[in-house]
This record gives sequence, C-alpha cells and structure tokens, in this order.
Amino acid sequence: MSNILVPNRIKSLNPELISLVAAGEVIEHPASVVKELVENSLDAFASEINVEISDVGLSQIRVADNGLGIHKDDLISSLHRHTTSKMQEASDLAAINTLGFRGEALYSISSVSNISIRSKTIDSVAGFEVISTDASNLEIRPVGMPQGTIVTVKNLFYNVPGRKKYYQNKSHLNRKIIQIITGAALANPTVGFRMKINDKVTLHVPKNQDLSHRISYLLGDSISTNLLPLDFEVDHFHLEGFASKPQGALPSDEFQYIFVNGRPVTHKQISKIIKETYGSLIEVKSHPVFVLNLGIPPSLIDVNVHPRKQEVLFINSASVYENIQKALVEVLGISDLTYSKSSKKAIYADVFEAHKANPHLASSLKDTTLTWNIKTNKQVKDIEILQIHNLYLVFETPQGLTLIDQHAAHERILYEDFLNQFKEEKSKALSVNVDQLLDLPVSLVTLLESSLETLGKLGFTIEHFRNNTFKVVSVPQLYEKHDIKKLLIEFLKDLEENAVLKDSDQASLKTIAYLACRTAIKAGDYLTLEERQNLVEKLTKTKSSYTCPHGRPVQLEISLAELGKMFKRLK
Ligand code: ADP
Ligand code: MG
Repeated sequence: MSNILVPNRIKSLNPELISLVAAGEVIEHPASVVKELVENSLDAFASEINVEISDVGLSQIRVADNGLGIHKDDLISSLHRHTTSKMQEASDLAAINTLGFRGEALYSISSVSNISIRSKTIDSVAGFEVISTDASNLEIRPVGMPQGTIVTVKNLFYNVPGRKKYYQNKSHLNRKIIQIITGAALANPTVGFRMKINDKVTLHVPKNQDLSHRISYLLGDSISTNLLPLDFEVDHFHLEGFASKPQGALPSDEFQYIFVNGRPVTHKQISKIIKETYGSLIEVKSHPVFVLNLGIPPSLIDVNVHPRKQEVLFINSASVYENIQKALVEVLGISDLTYSKSSKKAIYADVFEAHKANPHLASSLKDTTLTWNIKTNKQVKDIEILQIHNLYLVFETPQGLTLIDQHAAHERILYEDFLNQFKEEKSKALSVNVDQLLDLPVSLVTLLESSLETLGKLGFTIEHFRNNTFKVVSVPQLYEKHDIKKLLIEFLKDLEENAVLKDSDQASLKTIAYLACRTAIKAGDYLTLEERQNLVEKLTKTKSSYTCPHGRPVQLEISLAELGKMFKRLK
C-alpha cells in the first residue's frame, strides 16, 4: 500500500440514497411534514383539517381533511417523485395559485418514514388506502371513510439516525409544529383546524371564523386588542389584515405574519420596511405585530425560489414595498413618509425625546474605569442628586462625581432582593392575590406549564383555567401594579429563547434576572428627589453594585483628577 492520496472515482448514487439526499432538503424537521401535509389539504379545498401528533412527531403525524381527495388511480403515483396535479407545463410555473407545485412532498416524506394515505373522492363509493413500507411494491386496498384524505406518517427519520436522535427528547419542538398550524390558520380563516398533541387538544378553531377572533384565540387577547384593521388596494395589489398600534409593539419579532396569496412566507425585507414605517412611533428594540395577506397576481411573483417554499420573490419589489408603506402610513395616520425620528414628533414627541441620552456625556465617559465604591460619610438623605434626561443620576462624592444608570441600578437591587427571597423560599409569604385571567398564544401554553414550578418558587401561583387560559392567583407583591399578562408573556418568550438552559438553577437565575429587569424603573421615568436618594441608598447595600444582572455597568465615576485633565487644569 502506498501513502499517496488518489481521488475517489465518481459514481452514480443509488436511487435510495438519491431520495434520502433530496428528502433532506424538503423535510428538515417534523414540522416540515406537518407543513407539507396541511398545504396539501388546503390545496384540496378542505374546510376542516385535523392534525394529530405523537411524541414530537417522530412516532406519528396524522393529517386528516375533508377536501377533494385523490383519485384511486392516482394514489400510488402521488407518492412518486415529481408527480403533481397542480402543474403541467413550464408556463404554469408563472401562474401558481396552489401552495404545492413541485410534486416532492409526499415522495420525500415517504423516503424518510412509513407513510400511508387513505383517500376518497366525491364520485367514488369507497375510499382507498396505500401503505408505503416497501416502495417497490405499492398496493391499494379499499377502506370505508368519508370524503377527504388521511395521511399517516410513522417512524419519521427511522433511516436517518442522526436526525432522529437530534430531535428526540425535545418536547419544545412541538412549538414549531404549533407555529406552522398557527400560520396556516391565520392565513385561512375560513378553514377549521383542530390539533391534538399526544391525545390532548392543543388548538381548535372553527371554520368560517372572523379573523380578529382567530387572532385573539391564537395569539392572545393582549395582542389582538392592540391591532388596527388594514385594507389597502391599488392596481393589482391588495394588502389586508391587521397591524399593531405603536403601543402594541413587542420585544420579539415572532408575531409577524406575512402571507403572499395565502402562503406563509418569511420576508426580512418586508418586516424591515414595516418596522421602518413605524419609525420612531415604536422603540428601537421593539417590533410591530402584524398579520397581513398580500394579494398579488401570481405572474408578478416567483414562488419557486426556496426548497421548502418559504420565500417568494417579487418581480417588481420596489412597488410592492412602496405600497406596503403607503398602506401602513394610512392606517397609522402618519402624515409624511420620511422616517427620520423628528418627523413623527407631532404624535409621540414627548415620550421619545425623553429616551434620548446625551451623546457628549456618553463619549466623554467612554474611557473611565469603575473604581469608585459608594462609601460616603454623608447620609444619602443629605446628598443632592440630579436626574438627567430621566436616565442617569449624578451626584458629588469625596473623590469626584458619580453617575448611575437608573434602570441598571434598580435592576441590580431587585435582582438581589429576588435572589434572597428565592433562596430562602420566602416569596410565597410576600405574594398578593390578584385573580387575573391570562390567555396565552397557543404556542406558549406548554412552555408556561413547564415553568410553573420555577414561577411558583418565585411567588407566582398560576393555575390552568381552560384551553389556553390560565388563572394567575397570586404574584409577588412587587408585581402587583404591573401588567402581569404582558410580563408573563414576555418572560415566557425570553425563557424560550434560552430553552437550552438545562439546569433548573440556571433557569431560575435567568427568570429572576428577567423579572428584575421588567419591574425596574425604566430609562425615561422621572424620579423624585426622595426616590433618587432611596435608589442610591439601596444600591450601596447590594453585593455587587457595579453591573446589572445582564452585565451592563451600573455606575461610573469621574475623579477630580480626571475632570482636571478634561478641562486642562494645571496640577
Ligand atoms: P404537490 O403538492 O407539490 O403537488 P405533493 O407530493 O405534496 O406534491 O402531493 C402530490 C399530489 O398528491 C398532489 O399534487 C395532489 O394531487 C395529491 N394530494 C396530496 N395530498 C392531498 C390531499 N390531502 N388531498 C387531495 N390531494 C392530495
Ligand atoms: Mg404538496
């Protein structure tokens, strides 16, 4: 044997391997199976779609519909690659009005699972079933069933061990499936959807439902009450749905639904343009909520740009974007389309002015180090504390002056308070009854259920009420005056983004930091002198007064020597 490396020779892949490779693109995740099957039901004009999931979709996914069904003689070919009833010639590609068109989904699913399809058309007396366990030997047999199609997918990824292992034990992955159904249900309010996960009904919306009712069920009342209806039509462009009032913007961009001719798509540019249109009506870090369908002639878009059909390309994107802006400007009542911060002064000027920090001060402080310890001989009560821009507190110290970030400081104080309560399990005693109902977006229900214990230890008593509504029985005293609903929803989303936090202690610390942040006074809040003094006094008592729980600095000192240098004073 020599050590010389020679290239492997090129060979054709065997058909089995080809199909595995191809399926990998279309069926990325158990939720992709659900997406493809539901799209097929919608393409078949179903008015009721039932989805059942067992064990994050790996052991079984079943989608049943009352649509047009598949002709008996097409049942077997529906499982073949590139077989579709939705397109015949290349020219059809320019006028696609179905969700599917590639003829790849059932084929791909069948190459990574055991699939069976039962279907009955209106003109057939019986239904028929095809079971694909051995692709080379497909047979159909009659079955009794009503009109429609039932697709059952078992043992997903049985022949892709890596993928199967990757998705096992990840119960939060069901959320992805719920998100798919949520999107489909929002895009098709006339269609009824029912979804069961491990035999438990997790989502149920009736057919012919009013979109606003559907939104409030699927996304929760707190989102739906802050939405404005929108209906904008010009030439061949029709944008319809709901967009949030500025105050309905959220810290996450999760609740942004864009449908193009009823197809859920992700379109970063559209999201960006919508956010820009809100401009300074919303805070920089928040995101508007919207559920919008864009109706546009199929000839003006290209839907064939993504293997999972999640994106579309607009032939004339500039005019699409412009119309989206116009539609939003109209509904938000913005009078001009320049997005500079000052242009919307008329509406929200005072709020946003207050949030601006002083750039000169910030830059001159950039290089200062955190050296000062609040150990003054004076009583905090006697100190003059100045609040600047409703953001920072400034006061004199024996060594120079100190600047405190009011939000970060309060956060630090609360964090340590909570932590102590948590460790000593005192939170229960300090909580107060509120008896509030909390309706959650369906997708957050399981997450809340799994956080109930940690929240309980922190003094939140929350019970299941019905469907996706929970009863908040009591909350820690500190939260009594807060918008508890908003707090908990944001908390859950934050927690979810950190779903990797395995150990419960870590998750609890994260929870505590989060809650501290939410309860703390904000940048922009005016503080009375007494409040300023309280804050500074409490800060001196914390263990670590230099950074907030997220690691941002809480206080900065400028010594007299540094001031001297800045002013070029001679020593
Ligand atoms: P595509 O949707 O791109 O055509 P699929 O592999 O998803 O490809 O489906 C293949 C064909 O099977 C479809 O074109 C359609 O004719 C038929 N089909 C699949 N699911 C259903 C369903 N639920 N109801 C009616 N027909 C279906
Ligand atoms: Mg399809």
